[in-house]
Amino acid sequence: MRILFSKPKALSSISTHYCPGCGHGIIHRIIAEVIDELPQDQKIIGVAPVGCSVFIYDYFNFDFVAAAHGRAPAVATGVKRSIRDALVFSYQGDGDIAAIGTSEIIHAAARGESFTAIFVNNGVYAMTGGQMAPTSIPGQITVSSPYGRDPKIQGYHIKLCEMLEPLDGVAFIARTSIHNIKNIEMTKKIIRKAFDIQINELGFSIIEILSNCPTNWGMTPIKSMKRIEEEVIKYYPLGIFKDKGGDIK
Ligand code: SF4
Repeated sequence: MRILFSKPKALSSISTHYCPGCGHGIIHRIIAEVIDELPQDQKIIGVAPVGCSVFIYDYFNFDFVAAAHGRAPAVATGVKRSIRDALVFSYQGDGDIAAIGTSEIIHAAARGESFTAIFVNNGVYAMTGGQMAPTSIPGQITVSSPYGRDPKIQGYHIKLCEMLEPLDGVAFIARTSIHNIKNIEMTKKIIRKAFDIQINELGFSIIEILSNCPTNWGMTPIKSMKRIEEEVIKYYPLGIFKDKGGDIK
């Protein structure tokens, strides 16, 4: 019998705690698929954040280190410098990487640290109940911006890819989305590319993945995916912002 579909080996058998329809599950799966495609003896070490994905270490079959809120880039730096042949990635939400951890990610990128940051942007502080995040887009209604984010009062959203792109230590930056199959497949290819950049020691790599939070957006999972396509991408255009990898797949 030919097997057409199965769970990636890199994923554990523990059921996730994520809400139904949450993008974290999709992103975990595609990371696991990419890792399954790497050589079997490739060491993998993840760095877990604080946020909805705080228990990510339970969901994969390789080692993780848990970091304090926003400090995953500093922890990933230490892990990678200690174990050079490991593929090291941080997994961080927007509250983690673009607010309390802004300093860490900027300095890790500027230093050209040889790890990959996987940045999941759903535009809210999801774990704590859906407050406005630095990444909430203008007009976005959250529990702490009930009339919609007004840039004159609450300022503008942070565009991390565009901020990091000029830094010399950055080898690869891309923004992708998981709102439909085509973009999920593209995100998987981009993750593979970023990991290959790291394996070839070209410098720091980061992928921003636009994701959904149906619970705090107050929408069905399907409507939340449509919102990414119709509203969020206008403020966060997709694409590869920098690629020093050349012909690496
Ligand atoms: S609160 Fe939002 S981001 Fe967090 S698990 Fe639920 S749907 Fe996902």
